[in-house]
Amino acid sequence: MLNIVLFGPPGAGKGTQSERLIERYGLVHLSTGDIFRANIKGETELGIMAKSFMDQGKLVPDEVTINMLRSEVLKHEHPKGFIFDGFPRTNAQAQALDVLLDELKAPISLMLALEVEEDELKIRLMKRAESSGRADDADPAIIENRIRVYNNETAPVKEFYQAQHKFKSIDGIGSIDDITARLFEAIDK
Ligand code: AMP
Repeated sequence: MLNIVLFGPPGAGKGTQSERLIERYGLVHLSTGDIFRANIKGETELGIMAKSFMDQGKLVPDEVTINMLRSEVLKHEHPKGFIFDGFPRTNAQAQALDVLLDELKAPISLMLALEVEEDELKIRLMKRAESSGRADDADPAIIENRIRVYNNETAPVKEFYQAQHKFKSIDGIGSIDDITARLFEAIDK
């Protein structure tokens, strides 16, 4: 199985690039943000709970996120692999993912981290707000909060995969096609 963690700050292009990767490698795309948003739309209990954190740009608590991710992974019987987009976002989530994939005897192959500097992220998120309809993209204070949460809680997850020699940094600046080509090269190497 090819199991990829597509990593990076909000606005780095994880969603866009995930679409390219699933098409080429036939992977199952699991975006925790998308799953939470689908639950919000469906007004599920999980969605109502997640919304209260997402609206503030805070992380949904680990236990909830991990349980949700676990049940999504187990829905697929013979996957070619997964692309984890927006997960793991904390070290506790990374550890839980390792335990789960251990059970499936299919460890993470690679973490690909899209690197984009902060000023560019803010520009991209404000632009995305025009089409995404996401409240958390439209408010500069919430964007600031999400970037702060990324720097404090999520960026350290890189070290978890560095220690396992699975980490690759990818320049996230340039055309969408150029960035896709960099990702393909990193995977195919
Ligand atoms: P995203 O679509 O990845 O930008 O995520 C949008 C929001 O969903 C985040 O700001 C968090 O509030 C929540 N979220 C998504 N993934 C996670 C995660 N792995 N852990 C905690 N919260 C998450």
